[in-house]
Amino acid sequence: KFAVRKSKTKLLDIGINVGPTGSLNPYAVLLPVDVNGVMVKRATLHNEDYINTKDLRIGDQVIVERAGDVIPKVVDSVVEERNGSEIPFKFPSVCPSCLYKVVRLEGESTVICLNVSCPARLERSIEHFVSKVAMDIQGMGPRIVRILIENNLINNLPDIFQLKINDLIILDGMGQKKAENLVKAINDSKTRPFSNFLVALGIPYLGIESAAILANHFAYMENLVKGTHDELLSLPSIGDKIAQSIIDYFANESNLGTVNALNELGVGIG
Ligand SMILES: [Zn+2]
Repeated sequence: KFAVRKSKTKLLDIGINVGPTGSLNPYAVLLPVDVNGVMVKRATLHNEDYINTKDLRIGDQVIVERAGDVIPKVVDSVVEERNGSEIPFKFPSVCPSCLYKVVRLEGESTVICLNVSCPARLERSIEHFVSKVAMDIQGMGPRIVRILIENNLINNLPDIFQLKINDLIILDGMGQKKAENLVKAINDSKTRPFSNFLVALGIPYLGIESAAILANHFAYMENLVKGTHDELLSLPSIGDKIAQSIIDYFANESNLGTVNALNELGVGIG
């Protein structure tokens, strides 16, 4: 066990990182402080409830804790030292990256951005989209995904299906043969089962088993989009959490635009 060390410093601001699944992760911006020999200027705040429960306000003197190599965290505010200038933090209602309205699913502590084309989420959502359980596009590992995004060849999921051999051969480490294979793998993925396509979209809580049940019941994307909460709940192994997640996903215009664009390219119609 590592010794837990604590120091006191000022909470200068609260920032938000958008994680790969779209979760909005708050962090503390601190007046740099020495905690057991390490200068700490950022610390995790976990989520909205954590900030509210601890009543952390911008300008507060706070206690920062660091145990071993674990990311430092703010564990308390020193209420006695307040002078009235401290500002309570209001958790953002829109994603700091794409400005879409964020949601907090019932019973969850995490606020998430559901926009599939959110720049902060793009890289990881594409990695998920092409993965084995999803569209299973061979030859499109994380390194290639990053290169494609950096070269502006992919800005959203539909862009994957617009890639041309000539776009690809100029990329570092690609070459004619690999480029041809990748374009072929992308085209072949258009015939993936509807259930795998649903998984590929990255709808929170939707795994392959529930996706298979949805695919079996609705058969086509246009039917699923029109599915009501009650209809979803009537299906085996679709609980309230997944049902609401699906409703929220298709209620988002950006997501709907992505799905429609993919459908028009012959992808994931059902
Ligand atoms: Zn976003």
